[in-house]
Amino acid sequence: MTDRLYYTDSFLHKFDARVLSVEGGDGRTAITLDRSAFYPTSGGQIFDTGWLEVEGEPPARLRVTEVSENEHTGEIVHFIDADAAVIREGIAVRGAIDAERRRDHMQQHSGQHVLSGAFEKLYGFATVSFHMGDESCTIDLAADAVTPAQITAAEYLANEVIAEDRPVGIRFATPDEALALGVRKIPAAAREKLRLIDIQDFDLNACGGTHVRSTGQIGSILLRKTEKVRQGIRVEFVCGLRAVTTARRDFATLTEAGAIFSTHIWDVPQQARKAQEEIKAAQKAQHRLLEEVAEFEARQLLNSASLRASGKLVSKYFPGRDLTYIKLLAQKITMLEPAAAILGCGGAQPSLVFGQAKGQPHDMGALMKKTVQALGTRGGGNRDMAQGGAPDGDSAERAVREAAAEIE
Ligand SMILES: [Zn+2]
Repeated sequence: MTDRLYYTDSFLHKFDARVLSVEGGDGRTAITLDRSAFYPTSGGQIFDTGWLEVEGEPPARLRVTEVSENEHTGEIVHFIDADAAVIREGIAVRGAIDAERRRDHMQQHSGQHVLSGAFEKLYGFATVSFHMGDESCTIDLAADAVTPAQITAAEYLANEVIAEDRPVGIRFATPDEALALGVRKIPAAAREKLRLIDIQDFDLNACGGTHVRSTGQIGSILLRKTEKVRQGIRVEFVCGLRAVTTARRDFATLTEAGAIFSTHIWDVPQQARKAQEEIKAAQKAQHRLLEEVAEFEARQLLNSASLRASGKLVSKYFPGRDLTYIKLLAQKITMLEPAAAILGCGGAQPSLVFGQAKGQPHDMGALMKKTVQALGTRGGGNRDMAQGGAPDGDSAERAVREAAAEIE
């Protein structure tokens, strides 16, 4: 079992140790030491990174990229992404953890204790799980719902506790002693001695992670989105410098949105809603105009259409129109007179629309099937109205000519 130096001192960044085992292969080496300050992924907190230094000529400095825990043996395993021939069983090494990453993790993790304490104190919402990610962290609360007002109040209380700079102590106790002390939650796999994290006069919880010395070192807590999950409500949050970088990014995003609307960032939602309404109104107006244009064009086309025994036939290819328009046009043509329409368009999505008025003798669905089969595209419809795709404008134009000839 590795002697866990972070257990009693979260601020120990450098330490000396002896190598117990080395296992390598495929460019990766796993190393265990007799003692370590490296925190392995566990209890929701992610691992430390850092270096293992070996004296010699020349001295070696190997990057530790991942640290995990062997739950059966209690050993901490340090991983190096290289075949580390310089590290051998029994030699002395000096470990150095990435202090900036450790500080960030301590801020997030300690902030979680404060936040969980705040939700518990204010609303009796127990924290059932904690997850630390590279960008943000989450806790899952045993609650059916958490209101925006509760989020604001918990965030406020948590930040007050941070501002009060309460001492954060580590104490060891049996599960019974811990219960008598009023611990928030006893872990399922409780060992003989529990390690308790004591935020003075605010929160006491069993935890194996790394924490700050006093709440002021957390800096700040910013709560973000909430979502319903299987076990309750998930609350996303960021602490310390992450809160600053997150707020900075939010502000930059809002500033950009504000510049687009030429407005103060606080008025962005109002302006966005207004713009949305204007777009909807413009779309409606455009559709009305399109209908008028289609009807006008349908009348013109019918006036100059060829007359067959069964009625008029309008066939035309429109290089600059789209599917929406030729569909509308086919509807107008077949509504105005007992006619047939064989239409095609080019543009980004070359298409075909075949239609006929009710009572006309053709089967437009079958004609479309035959046409798209020849073109190698897809399409279909019913007896009176069918649509399909064309690979390009030229083939759409040709298909209109050929389909019109079929029913001429
Ligand atoms: Zn903790």
